This record gives sequence, C-alpha cells and structure tokens, in this order.
Amino acid sequence: MLRKNLRLLAIAFSEEDERFLYSEITNIHVYKNINNLLDIRSELCESDWDVILFNHDKSFLDCSTALNVLKESGKDIPLIIYSDVSDENAVHSALYSGAHDYIHKGSALYLVHAIEREIRNAEIRQAKVKAEDQIYHLAFHDELTNLPNCNLFSEKASAMFSRLAESDAIAAMYLVDFDRLPYINSIYGSGVGDRLIQQFSQRLSAYSTENCLLTRIEGCKFAFFNANVTDAESVQDFANQIIKLAISQVTIDNLIFYLRLNIGICVYPVDGGNIAQLLANAESTLSHTRYLWKNTCTYYTKEIEEVAVKRSLLETALRSAIEKNELLLHYQPIVDLQSGALSGVEALVRWNHPEFGLLLPEKFIPLAQETGLIIDIGRWVLWQACRQAGLWHQAGYGSLSISVNISAIEFDQTQLISSISHVLAETGISPELLELEISESTLMRDAETSAQILQALKDMNIKIAMDNFGTGYSSLRYLKHFSIDILKIDRSLTHDIIIDPDSSEIIAAIIAMARNLDLLVLATGIETKEQFDFLHHLRCDRAQGFLFSRPMIAQDMLHLLAQRKTGTLA
Ligand code: C2E
Ligand code: MG
Repeated sequence: MLRKNLRLLAIAFSEEDERFLYSEITNIHVYKNINNLLDIRSELCESDWDVILFNHDKSFLDCSTALNVLKESGKDIPLIIYSDVSDENAVHSALYSGAHDYIHKGSALYLVHAIEREIRNAEIRQAKVKAEDQIYHLAFHDELTNLPNCNLFSEKASAMFSRLAESDAIAAMYLVDFDRLPYINSIYGSGVGDRLIQQFSQRLSAYSTENCLLTRIEGCKFAFFNANVTDAESVQDFANQIIKLAISQVTIDNLIFYLRLNIGICVYPVDGGNIAQLLANAESTLSHTRYLWKNTCTYYTKEIEEVAVKRSLLETALRSAIEKNELLLHYQPIVDLQSGALSGVEALVRWNHPEFGLLLPEKFIPLAQETGLIIDIGRWVLWQACRQAGLWHQAGYGSLSISVNISAIEFDQTQLISSISHVLAETGISPELLELEISESTLMRDAETSAQILQALKDMNIKIAMDNFGTGYSSLRYLKHFSIDILKIDRSLTHDIIIDPDSSEIIAAIIAMARNLDLLVLATGIETKEQFDFLHHLRCDRAQGFLFSRPMIAQDMLHLLAQRKTGTLA
C-alpha cells in the first residue's frame, strides 16, 4: 500500500507516461516532470521528494549523470528507472551507477511495489544515519551544555598547534571555575545546579569561535583555548571580558544567585606545548586560587607547579591517613572564667605524617576541604572526640563538654544530622555536652538554610558555638536569627585588648550584646594574665588559650582533669 501524499519527481516523462502514472497511482500529492539538468538541480535543492522516476528512453541525459547530481545534493532519494529499453547492458550500467531498481514500462504492479519498497528502505537508511549522527554527537559533546566535550576540544585544539607553530603565534588556555556549585546542588538539588551550569555555558558560548574553543571540564568549570590572543595585554583583556560577562546575577525559579569565579591562565608555548600540559598547568593555577573567589585571574608560574606537585603528594597521603591511623586529636581546655573550673575541651585534629611529622590543621584541612576528604575526616573526628569524652565522663568527669569544629562542607552535607545522631547513639554521650563549632562565615553563606540546620541541631539538644566571631560579617541581626548558644571571640580580637583601645572596646561591646541575647561568650587566644584580668573584669563567661593550657593528647588531659579536682586552671 503506497503512502499517502506521495511526492514524485519524474524525469523526462511523456504525456502518455504521465497518464499511466496517474491512472495507476492515486495518491500522488506533489508531482513534477522535468526535462533539463538545471531543473533537476534546483528541484533537488529546493524541495523534498519521496522518489524519482527516470524515463531512460526519453531522457536528455544518461542515468549516471542524474545519479551524480542526486549524490551532490546530499539527499537520499530512491531513483527508479522506468523504461522500455530491453537493452540489458544499459540497465545493468544504470543499476551499477546506483539506481535503485528498473521497472519495465506498463508494469503497474511492479512499479507500485518498487516505489513502496524503496521509500521504506530509504527511511530505514535515513533513520540509521540520524542515529549514527546522534551517537557521534553524544560521543563528542557534553550532554548538559551541548558544548564540544573534552575529547573534541582537545582534538580541535591540537589541530591548531601546527598552524600556531608555523606562524610563531601564541594562544592562551583559560580555566574558568565558578564557586558554590556543590553547595547549590546540596541545598536546592542538582536540577537547579544543572540549569545554573547551562546558563553559564550559554553566556560563555558568546565568546566561542573557530579560533577560540570552549568546553566544560566538569561541574561549573569551563576551559577556553583562545588562539585569537596576540600579546600579554590581549590575554588579560579576554580574561576581563569573561569576568564581566559571567558575574552578573543568575535567576532560576525566582532564586537569585550571585556567583564568583576564578580563572587560571597559562600561555602556549611558554607554559606548555600540548593540550594536556596546558590543561594540567591551568588546573594547578586554579587550585592555587581556590580560596580567593574574587572574580580574578591568576597566571601560571613555576612556583605554582612546585606547590601543585607537593599538594598532590600530600593529597595521596591524606587519602589513606585515616586507615593508617595517622590522624589524632589534641584537646585544649576551656575554662569557666568566673569559677576557674575546666568546663570543657575543644578537639583539634593533627596528622602524624610519616615523613613530615606532626602537622597542624592549617597544613592539611584546606586540602581536605578542597578534595572533599574533610567529610571522612570530620566524621572520624566527631566519633573519636565523642568516644573520648564518653571515657572521661565514665572516669568521673561527667559534666565535661566536648567541642568539635565543623567546616563549611560538612555543614552543607545533607547527612549531617543523621551522622551526628548516629555518633551520639554509638558513643552514648549526652547531646547537651556536645558543642559544635561552626564559623561565622560558614553560617553566613546561606543564612536561611543555616538557620534551619541550626534549629534541627538545637532540637536535638546539641549546643552550637559560632566560631571565629569578629573576623567576618559579625552581623548582629543574624545572631538573633540563629539558634546559637555560645559566641567564640576570635583570637585576633583578644590579641590586642591590652594595647589597642579599639579592640578592648569591641570586646566589651560583644560581651554586653551577647548578654542581651542570652548567649555565652568564650574568648579565645588568651595568653597573658592581663588579657585574663580584662576579660574577668568584663564578666566574660569562658576562655581558652595558652595561658591555661596548650592543646594536649588525651592522656595528659586526664592528668589535668585529676589536678582540677584539687584546684583550678586559672
Ligand atoms: P579554631 O577552631 O579557632 O581552633 C583554635 C586554634 O587556636 C587551635 O589551633 C589552637 O591551637 C589555637 N590556639 C588556642 N589557644 C591559643 C592561644 O592562646 N594562642 C594562639 N596563638 N593560638 C591558640 P589549631 O589546632 O592549629 O587549629 C587551627 C584551626 O584548624 C582551628 O581553629 C579549626 O578551625 C581548624 N580545625 C582544627 N581541628 C579541626 C577539625 O577537627 N575539623 C575541622 N573542620 N577543623 C579543625
Ligand atoms: Mg574552634
């Protein structure tokens, strides 16, 4: 059964042929009969046809010429020879050239059947080509952004190298990374994160040209390989353009996001002679700027490479530090300033590195945060600290609180509440003796969500301390808004209280304000008797610092606790 609305292009049909066609084929929707080469070309170019019937006897050109024109058009339309010719050689040569069938004039049944079959075959071929195109596209494009993927990007960039080398030209690799994607994914879901990536991709695409290639590396990280640059100034100009284009607000489902970006730049050929090397060096440069997030760009240097090598060695070692039992906790006493009694301890992690010895957190916590290893480390610290506190409680120091630092990534993760409940249940310590220290800047990243998480922790009776208060926003409005119990004044503020009247006034104001809000104040970094006296005079609640004790191992802490029974720390 022939399809409806058949579009039939006839070549060199006589009136008699046409009459026959119309009498035998009733569903012709579009029909054209053409008699010269020019018309064949324009019909193939301008219209869509289901089948071509070629009258071999009357034709002004031979079949292979017609087939060549068809091939040039790039269209897959079946061509059937319709002829009286009984010359087998002519038929063979036409079929050999690519004609799909040969039908003897007047054989209506054969003609209908051949048209039907060849249209079906053409459809199958077209579907196959389409599927192959799609597979090819998927293999070389990023599904989310439709940008060329890294393979295609590298292939195209590599192809540019020979041209660059011939003309002694330069090119620049830009690695552009936007902050907060993991956070947005965890709070609003990956759907919002994906749309954010798509919006940035569209913005950046405005700069992608044949000589300026763009790809998405992962997450919200994109790479440009720009061969349009000519000197240092134009390399910087392009970075400025990206920053300008990318930093304006993004709106998704009425949510407004302001993102910041870092750009790592390296230049061909001085910083790398192939794509892999340029990408790796741009990546090292970007890692170097990880905490800047200032909408700025950094250029690759040899020093950056050295740091990157060390960093990667450290990362490999840190990955196995927990399994190898290389992490340990030190505990620093927290003192009740009015009674002088030891009210609790803060757990502070250390890494006993096999080569470098005992490392303080500043040497590995930033790396752990960057690599996500902080989640495992944080879980270990919480468990270990609570287990140790449980042992002290059993040893007769049942009111001792244990403070644990929670970094931004830990705070953002959805399993935070369940993993804390789990640790409390396993170690058996009572929630009101667990104090979580969360820095002011972490809480202010997304104040609304922070408030919800803090409320959930409060509902569990866990105590919350805002750590490093005075170093960031110090927003009084949010202090009221958040369910916190303790304000930990950063040691950078307490450091100058005796010598700098401004610092002492600020601390006096913080203590007064905290009292109004019913918060306990813990002053950190107390090293001198003068600082102690000053805080004591202001009736600050608690203090922590080298004056009382440095952080120490659990065993030493037990001795200190025993001493406390006979005296005080202050
Ligand atoms: P932090 O929470 O502000 O911890 C207090 C830091 O101040 C500790 O440094 C402590 O040794 C130091 N400190 C205490 N008293 C004094 C003093 O009187 N003078 C001076 N100059 N310093 C004093 P530490 O152990 O090097 O820890 C540094 C930071 O590393 C901590 O700051 C905390 O933010 C982070 N950290 C430590 N342990 C962990 C952990 O288990 N998890 C996470 N996420 N972060 C941790
Ligand atoms: Mg702390």
